[in-house]
Amino acid sequence: MKSLLFLLLSVSFSYAFPIHPGNRSEEQKAQLVQYLEQFYELENEPKPRARKSSNSLEGKIRQMQDFFRLNVTGKADDDTLAVMQQPRCGVPDIGSFVLALPGWSKTKLTYRILNYTPDMKAADVDAAIQRAFNIWSTVSPLIFTRIHQGTADINIEFVTGAHGRCPRPFYGPQQALAHAFPPGYPFRGNVHFNEYYNWAADSAIDAPYQLRFNLFLVAAHEIGHALGLAHSSDPEALMFPYFKSTLSVDFPLTQDDINGIQAIYGPSPNPPKEPAKPTLPKACDPKISFDAVTTLRREVMFLKGRHYWRVYPDLSEVNYELISTFWPSLPSGTQAAYENMNDRVLFFKDNRFWALNGLQMEPGYPKTIDHLGFPQNIKKIDAAAFDEDTEKTYFFVGNQYWRFDENSQSMDKGYPRKTREDFPGIGPKVDAAFQHNGFFYFFYRSKQWEFDLKDKRVIRVMKSNSWLNC
Ligand SMILES: [Zn+2]
Ligand SMILES: [Zn+2]
Repeated sequence: MKSLLFLLLSVSFSYAFPIHPGNRSEEQKAQLVQYLEQFYELENEPKPRARKSSNSLEGKIRQMQDFFRLNVTGKADDDTLAVMQQPRCGVPDIGSFVLALPGWSKTKLTYRILNYTPDMKAADVDAAIQRAFNIWSTVSPLIFTRIHQGTADINIEFVTGAHGRCPRPFYGPQQALAHAFPPGYPFRGNVHFNEYYNWAADSAIDAPYQLRFNLFLVAAHEIGHALGLAHSSDPEALMFPYFKSTLSVDFPLTQDDINGIQAIYGPSPNPPKEPAKPTLPKACDPKISFDAVTTLRREVMFLKGRHYWRVYPDLSEVNYELISTFWPSLPSGTQAAYENMNDRVLFFKDNRFWALNGLQMEPGYPKTIDHLGFPQNIKKIDAAAFDEDTEKTYFFVGNQYWRFDENSQSMDKGYPRKTREDFPGIGPKVDAAFQHNGFFYFFYRSKQWEFDLKDKRVIRVMKSNSWLNC
C-alpha cells in the first residue's frame, strides 16, 4: 500500500501543474479552500458581512501571498497554486495556534520517542531526533533529556490518519508532513510525523528529495514549534513552513531562528566555541562545499580556498593542486569562475575579476565587475556558468541571476531575474556552477543538482563531490 501511495505522490508532484489560468476545476477550488482553512484560518461559512474582509477567500489568498512574498493579487495564480501543492509543515501560518509565548516555564525538558517509522533503522531515528534537539540547546539555555517511560514534556510519534485525540488528522499525500503543538496548547509538546511520507537519514538525501524527507531537518523544525516558535516567512529559515533541500544538515538554524528561540528563552549560557581552523579539505568529506567550479579545456576545476581539484571526466582521474603553484597572481577563495567559447577563464572574488588565457594570466587584471555591466551595489558574484549552445553566461548573485552575452560582451536586458523562477528545483542560492555535456551542474553547500536548461527541470540531485571519485 505504501509503495502505491508514494507512486501517487511522485505523480502528483510532477504533474500537479500546469493548470491553465481561467480553467480551474472544482477540485482545485476545493484544494485551495482546504489549504486556506488549514493554514490561514479561512472559516467554513464566512459571516455575510465578512465577505469583503480579511476573512473572505480573496483576503486569505492575499494573506498567504504576502506571507510567501508572492505577488499579492488575491487570485489563485499559478505561482500561488504551485506553493500550495508542495508538502509542508501542518502547523498554520497565521492564527492563535501559533502564539506560544512565554514558552515552557522551565529549561530542563524531557522527551520520549513513542514509536518508530519502518522507513529507517531505530538507531538512525534516535540519532536524528537527538541531533534535532541538540541544535536548539546549543543556542538557548534549554537542556533536553530522553526518557524511555513515564510522562515526557515532548512526545515524538509517527502516525497516520486520525490519530488519538489529535485534532489534526493526516489524510494521505498532499497533506502535512508533520505537525507539533506549542507549550500551553492542550496537546503541548506533541510532535507527530505523517507516516504516509517516507523518512530518511542524512546519508539517504541523494534520493529524489520530493519522495524522501530528512527526518532530522523536519524534526528540528517541529521541535521549534514544540518550544513555542511560529512559522517564519524568511525563506532561508528553518522555521519557514516548507522544507528545503538546501538547509544545512550540520546546522540548519539561521539568525532568524536563533533570534526567535532567544526571544523566548534567552541566549545559551555556554555559547559554542569558534570551530577550529580548517586544514586541508578532504575531497570525500560528505559535507564538502566548493567556492567555484569551471571547465578548463578538457578538465573541470573544483576550487576551494587555496586548493583545487583537477577532474578529467573522460578519464575519471582526479588530481589535487595548490592554486598558487600554477597561478601565483590568482587569489585564494575565488567565488565564481567560468570558461567561455574562446577558452578564456574568468575568476571572480568580491567585486573584481581575473582572466586566464591560454593557461597564462592576462595582464591588466584584476578589473572591477562593473566592466561587465553589474550595478555598483553588487559586491560579489556567487557563481557563474557559460552555456555553449547560446554563448551566454549566467551569473548568480544571492537569489537572482544575470545573463551576459559573450559575443556582444554586454548584459542582456530584463535582468536580474529570480533564480527559483527560471531554475525550478535548485537554490534559491548557488555556490558554484558549470556546464558539461549539455547539462548544467549547480552546487550549494554539500549538494549538487544536474539541470536541463531546455526543459527547465532538475534531472537528479547528487552530493557535491560526485565528480571526485569518492
Ligand atoms: Zn512548521
Ligand atoms: Zn497530530
